[in-house]
Amino acid sequence: MRILVIGGGHAGTYTALRLERLLRAAGAPRAEVRLVTPEPRLTYRPLLAAAAAGTLPPHHVLVPLRRVLRTTRLLLGEAVSLDLATRTAYVRTPAGPEAAPVPYDVLVLTPGTTPTPPPPHALALHSLADALALRSHLLTQLDLASSTRDPAVREAALCFVFLGGGYAGVDALPALRAMAERALKHYPGLRPTDLRWVLAEPGERLLPEAPADIGTYATRALRRAGAEIRLGAAPRTYRPGLLVLDDGDSLATRTLVHTPSAIRAPGAPPHPLLTTPALPLTPDGRLRCTSDLAVPGTPHTWAAGDTAAVPDPETPGATCAPHAGHAHGQAQVLADNLLATLRGEPTRPYDANAEKNEGLYVALGPHDGLARRHGRTFTGRPAVLLLRAHHLSRLPTARRKGRVLTEWAFSALFPHEPVALGAPAADPGAPAADPGEPP
Ligand SMILES: Cc1cc2nc3c(=O)[nH]c(=O)nc-3n(C[C@H](O)[C@H](O)[C@H](O)COP(=O)(O)OP(=O)(O)OC[C@H]3O[C@@H](n4cnc5c(N)ncnc54)[C@H](O)[C@@H]3O)c2cc1C
Repeated sequence: MRILVIGGGHAGTYTALRLERLLRAAGAPRAEVRLVTPEPRLTYRPLLAAAAAGTLPPHHVLVPLRRVLRTTRLLLGEAVSLDLATRTAYVRTPAGPEAAPVPYDVLVLTPGTTPTPPPPHALALHSLADALALRSHLLTQLDLASSTRDPAVREAALCFVFLGGGYAGVDALPALRAMAERALKHYPGLRPTDLRWVLAEPGERLLPEAPADIGTYATRALRRAGAEIRLGAAPRTYRPGLLVLDDGDSLATRTLVHTPSAIRAPGAPPHPLLTTPALPLTPDGRLRCTSDLAVPGTPHTWAAGDTAAVPDPETPGATCAPHAGHAHGQAQVLADNLLATLRGEPTRPYDANAEKNEGLYVALGPHDGLARRHGRTFTGRPAVLLLRAHHLSRLPTARRKGRVLTEWAFSALFPHEPVALGAPAADPGAPAADPGEPP
């Protein structure tokens, strides 16, 4: 039995881990699990903002898959097409441009969603490289502001705009703000009040992935901390130095960080792999799934994570929001159901409420957050502790948990110095060259 998992993110990695565990247990059918992934590591995205802000060493957000997966075979590459009739995936590996056929008996689709590309000159926050480039860029802006006499350059250098109030934006803005304010100790000419922090969300509220009251709490907490929250604001144009919003307001800034929420609008293009004929898609370009995580009308195919539109039993007609909690919970149920099906046993539905009871966690910088467990809501430092305990429970391997825990304990006593790890590849805040000018 050949089980092929496509995508080594949260859903794919935890599906493979759970399959390994179940297959090791007595009575499980013999099966080989293969995981197709472009990179041999999982990027633990909920900790990316901490890596960007330097409160967690960067390597802690990367989970080496060869280390944590014991029996799963890794196939490094990108699945470019599927032939569902012959049960073959075509995978392009680093070895060459030709896609090689990879036959399977059971397919698990967990390729996430394709992130919307950032506007020209904007910075992204999707990978560890993005996180490190963002840190370098911010510290470069402080250097620029402290070394110029031009008030316009200084104003633009000290205004930081985050575009998108999903988990990424809500976590990254206060984390980077705290880093910048720590760094200001070494810039005698700059004060925290000289810095301007703006979060522009095109939708009506922050955190559209979470219940409305959590978005409201995040808005209040960030505003209380001095950030400007602009709801219903999308960029009209951006060139380094000037951002014009669609309400006509403009901001002098050299920093636009693209942190969109993963909620997809109707008509959003699906992941290229999902355009395979016969795969049922929702209007927002996700893969329609049953509550037991099978893909209807496509035998032997399962899906989980951001890719999958899984019914949310609490709200008829709604599907589970795309976030790491659901990706993790669905991975467990998917693996159980897949093996139950092979054994001819009944499957069970994914209980989105159980995952919600398990906890909803939002980081709002290093010292604030919100945690909701079993109906109780915690904020401030207790929430930060619960949130960290949650991440420790989710990070694979005891060694990694131990290292991250030690790091957090140690850095409470000896905070990290904000330092750029290399220069950003290109400065997105640099004024654009006049196309009319000779080079
Ligand atoms: C900066 C940031 C912060 C976040 N913070 C939080 C948070 O605090 N809490 C929370 O709940 N959620 C958070 N999220 C959202 C969370 O990370 C996602 O919901 C979660 O990663 C979804 O898991 P997934 O496995 O479905 O997709 P991903 O984790 O995106 O994994 C998809 C994987 O599939 C691979 N892939 C894609 N296409 C192919 C292909 N053709 N062939 C092979 N492999 C492919 C990708 O390389 C990737 O490794 C955050 C997201 C970001 C970007």
